[in-house]
Amino acid sequence: MSMPTPRGACTTCGKTWTSRGMSRHIAACRGQGRHLHLRFADASSPLWWLHLAVAPTATLRDVDQFLRAIWLECCGHLSAFTIGHVRYDALPDLDDWGPPSGSMDTGMNSVLSEGVKFIHEYDFGSTTRLAGQMIGLVRGGRSKVEVLARNGDIPWTCNCEQPATALCMHCGALVCDACMLETPECSTCECSWEECALPVLNSPRMGVCGYDGEP
Ligand SMILES: [Zn+2]
Ligand SMILES: [Zn+2]
Ligand SMILES: [Zn+2]
Ligand SMILES: [Zn+2]
Repeated sequence: MSMPTPRGACTTCGKTWTSRGMSRHIAACRGQGRHLHLRFADASSPLWWLHLAVAPTATLRDVDQFLRAIWLECCGHLSAFTIGHVRYDALPDLDDWGPPSGSMDTGMNSVLSEGVKFIHEYDFGSTTRLAGQMIGLVRGGRSKVEVLARNGDIPWTCNCEQPATALCMHCGALVCDACMLETPECSTCECSWEECALPVLNSPRMGVCGYDGEP
């Protein structure tokens, strides 16, 4: 994917920045507070990014559920955070092989501090891996988790140069509505669009495991 990293709008003031610029902007725009300012991006592509304000009372599970709702949920797969050498599973693993495991009921602010990087994984088959980082502390609102900013729409295009609306779940080929009507099969793997098209969505889970943005 050789596309420039999209800018996104600050939900507080509406100004647009890249994800990196947004890290600095949010500190100035929101001011200091007690909420955790977290940044997430798809670990294998900088196209999708998200800045969140997380309440000091929020648990890892609250953030996991928020990430599922906005970006990930397709069919209720398992997920985990890895922070330092500890892995926090939705269900703690009781065998003593592998890194020590913790519970997602742990408070987010008890395991993070400014600058700390961590990983979130959803689905251990077709894994969507997110790189997270705590940027600092910001002033937050009442919600446990709130979007401070996210990447804007990515201009995916069909072979015919029109905006793509769907992609093939097998090969990732992008297609527009008109071409889908004209040629009912994916040109690469010859599966029928009727069965194999997934919608283009603003999510790193786009095109994976039947992801249609509706949990
Ligand atoms: Zn702003
Ligand atoms: Zn799934
Ligand atoms: Zn295909
Ligand atoms: Zn087309």
